[in-house]
Amino acid sequence: MPTSTGVPKPRSHSQYTRYAQCGEAYKLERVEKRPSDPAGWFVQGTAVHSGVEAYERSGRTISRAAAVDHYQQAWERELAAGLAVQSDTSQWMTGGFKSGTKDLSDRRQLGEHQVIDYIDYAEQSGESIWIAPDGKQAIELPFTIHLGEVPVRGVIDQVVQTPYGLTVRDIKTGTKKQSSALQLALYRRAIWDLYNIDITWGDFFTCARQGRSPRKGSPTEPYDLTRIDQHWLESQYAAMDAAERNNVYLANPGDHCTPCGVRRFCKAKGN
Ligand code: SF4
Repeated sequence: MPTSTGVPKPRSHSQYTRYAQCGEAYKLERVEKRPSDPAGWFVQGTAVHSGVEAYERSGRTISRAAAVDHYQQAWERELAAGLAVQSDTSQWMTGGFKSGTKDLSDRRQLGEHQVIDYIDYAEQSGESIWIAPDGKQAIELPFTIHLGEVPVRGVIDQVVQTPYGLTVRDIKTGTKKQSSALQLALYRRAIWDLYNIDITWGDFFTCARQGRSPRKGSPTEPYDLTRIDQHWLESQYAAMDAAERNNVYLANPGDHCTPCGVRRFCKAKGN
């Protein structure tokens, strides 16, 4: 276990992964507070989560049109936040050759489709949202726990009753394959700390795609989260926390530079 002096800072999965991916990006975004370039995928991701959350919170009673309405409202809010940073949508990040304006238009339509497709999946899945022992619906469930001495905060998208048992689930609107189940292992730990319930399984719900290779949304194969050692996870957060509080920020240029919102401030890219 890494040793460290001083008081650990509150951490999160996104802090941990961003720091591990590129320390320079972490410093620019979270220490120097540089404004991150907006991108349609952020707007889409938040808006789809909002539509799905509204549907599940209603006990699956609201109509598709009502769920889409929640989606559209969240879209407008997130769009306005992005426009406050960059008012010219053609300059928004896209990760490709498409203009930001066209990307936003495509994503708005795709996100609406993803919400409706999610409802189609939920209705025929045989799965249901778990009700926690304290009566809370396990949707967008906030937590603050301690991994060793490090406080870690987060929000669990869903805990789902599946035919094979309780499953922690994170909803992904993008096409990127998840490189690990560390996020889900953290959520497993959170459910244990909150409710003393040990969840074995986790998955990522990959939302529908359109275009050249359309497909319906569905969960990945379940991950056996007991295979990720919780003591090791604690040591990872302890290491990240100690290194960050000692101002260790290593740039790590790579494929992830393309969607990096602080790229224009990055000295590793010659800026
Ligand atoms: S552009 Fe690449 S190297 Fe620079 S901060 Fe972003 S991810 Fe890191």
